[in-house]
Amino acid sequence: MSLNQNHDHAGAVAGAIAGAVAGAILSIDLGALRDNYLFLRQKLQGAACGGAVKADGYGLGALQVARTLVQAGCRDLFVAHLEEGIALRPHFSADVAIYIMHGAPVGCEAEVLAHGCIPMLNSLPQITAWRELASQKGMRLPAVLQVDTGMARMGLAADEVAACVANPELLAGFELLFLMSHLACAEDQAHVMNLQQLHAFKTLRQQLPACRASLCNSSGIFLGEDFHFDLARPGIALYGGAPVAGQANPMRSVVRLQGRIIQTRQIPAQTSVGYSATWRSQKNSTIATVAVGYADGWLRSLSNRGVAFIAGTEVPMVGNVSMDTITLDVTEVAPEHLHPGALVDLISAENPVDIVAQRAGTISYEILTSLGARYHRHYIEAH
Ligand SMILES: *Cc1c(COP(=O)(O)O)cnc(C)c1O
Repeated sequence: MSLNQNHDHAGAVAGAIAGAVAGAILSIDLGALRDNYLFLRQKLQGAACGGAVKADGYGLGALQVARTLVQAGCRDLFVAHLEEGIALRPHFSADVAIYIMHGAPVGCEAEVLAHGCIPMLNSLPQITAWRELASQKGMRLPAVLQVDTGMARMGLAADEVAACVANPELLAGFELLFLMSHLACAEDQAHVMNLQQLHAFKTLRQQLPACRASLCNSSGIFLGEDFHFDLARPGIALYGGAPVAGQANPMRSVVRLQGRIIQTRQIPAQTSVGYSATWRSQKNSTIATVAVGYADGWLRSLSNRGVAFIAGTEVPMVGNVSMDTITLDVTEVAPEHLHPGALVDLISAENPVDIVAQRAGTISYEILTSLGARYHRHYIEAH
């Protein structure tokens, strides 16, 4: 938790100081988040649009993100762990559903119910345990059923769906809110698995009691109306990540990460920079040291591969990423932008999270969910 989340006066003052001296500032544009939500909802043409807020809202703050989505009309929030759901539940009224994507942890069914969360049941043991609780309570309990159509990760396989169908008593204990499955390759629009999974989902759906259905993550929404069903579960696109590989990203940028220059220094040719001396200057150079490192989630794989922007100029990250610092070759940047305390852009509209991820050899999801706890967090409210 950062200092600026304290709401007393001392906290506010400390927050202002922290913003001025923090080694790095993470700005989260809640207006852009809201616009992204409204854009996806419009694309869904009538199907409901939920929001995946697991993993602390993809690293951006689950509560701030969820509040923004609910204010924009979202009534379906998805988290992975029960603890995530329990933390969010008191902040929202009962018409906002909070789904636990891992389902009810075995032995914790009563806690799920007591905390007003809804399990996404994804195995026969989970179904049986939730059914037993329904019997004990003498009431039907709300549930979502997950079927597997191509991830082999969670959800009922086809033979387990058949076993459920053969035992109608099992599902009779539930108020089945919807049937869901998850797409494995949706960001690649030409991938054969998309239509295979759609077909498998429709087939399984026909065998089960009639209820609503949900298949799409962010990318799935862009596969077209056939995939939309009744409810979508976007995550990454809400946070500015590109939903379709190889196409221009239509989402607004939500995250800006700025690192602070601690010092600059002149080095002659043939001087090595950083741990393991993986980079060596070719000529007289200026190096800026910035107060962000792998302990902040600035991945070490960005060593000699990342870039930063200073007053619109792209500069290369040189040398290995350290725990608390990175080093930039700023030889081409005008000195007035290089004083200690100046901020450089590490993630921004001109250096989007997908490009950073590509350079790091990973995906935007991992960049966002790795964003560190040391950043001074600044939320730009949606108006
Ligand atoms: C994380 C997750 C989502 C959201 O996926 P994005 O690709 O971020 O849109 C949707 N559904 C399930 C089951 C998930 O695990």
